[in-house]
Amino acid sequence: MSAAFHGAEFCWMNGEITETKAALVSAMEPIHLGIFEGIKAYVENDINGKGRLNIFQWESHVNRLRRSAAVCGMKIPYSDEELLEATRNTIRANSFQTNVYIQPRIWPRAGATEETHFVIPIWTFETLLGKNNPQFSKNRRFMISTWRRIASDALPPQAKTWANYGNSALALREAVRLGHDGAIFLDNRGFVSEGTGACIMTVRNRKVITPPVTASILESITRDTLLKIIPEDLGIPIEVRDIARVELYASNEVFLCGTGGEITPITSIDDLPLGKEYPGTLTKHIAEYYADMVAGKVKKHKKWLTSV
Ligand code: PMP
Repeated sequence: MSAAFHGAEFCWMNGEITETKAALVSAMEPIHLGIFEGIKAYVENDINGKGRLNIFQWESHVNRLRRSAAVCGMKIPYSDEELLEATRNTIRANSFQTNVYIQPRIWPRAGATEETHFVIPIWTFETLLGKNNPQFSKNRRFMISTWRRIASDALPPQAKTWANYGNSALALREAVRLGHDGAIFLDNRGFVSEGTGACIMTVRNRKVITPPVTASILESITRDTLLKIIPEDLGIPIEVRDIARVELYASNEVFLCGTGGEITPITSIDDLPLGKEYPGTLTKHIAEYYADMVAGKVKKHKKWLTSV
């Protein structure tokens, strides 16, 4: 967790803005059945600068939060409007004027089946996006995890529950232990699933391919956004279908997509280099368009932005 998180003076907890240092619960709280969301707000018109913030895809994130709660049998005792107001007030209380990550978290209170705790921590982050950002072009060596992605008849990966991240943590720890930067899961059928905290897209012969929701992936909001803009705005064909492991090795480009990782290029998988050029041309093109969109520079998609 970033230092910025600990530095955020205020969060929202159970209905009110609270000093982060006072947002405490008992160590006896149950921690196995929590859900959360990961949302970003970007500075308008200047992705690496300071200024007015817009939340990207607010409505889709709140809808997924409600679906995750429903899967776990939890009730969210706040309306969408109340949650938006809570988020806006927390950003304002901290006087944030740079890009922020918003992570609403809900979990059942000790002993209670329906009552929950609801906290909204918010912290600043550094984007990978933006012209000539060296973070974007960093080399990233990934491996296929020896751990399989959780199957949806055991722990549904389509819901954003903390429990699912135990699976992600095992894969990531293994990857780092073996000298890699990250891991890609296969699903329980042996097809490509997703990363430990992002979905995956591959480019073969100028076509983008991404696994279906039935390949044990989170119903990613970034993936949904890209499924729309890649063909409609950029004119690049995109296909949703199962991907065999060997197809990843034979790809011209591979990138991850997600709210946190935005568009993250991958250099190699299992130490097999991908394509001739890194980052790949289409990955760069998609990332630049995504950066413009989240910064409010693409007029037709301003509807996906909610001002703070
Ligand atoms: N898969 C997993 C496991 C994730 O944690 C995330 C990040 N939320 C994603 C995919 C991407 O989802 P989204 O685009 O909604 O952030």
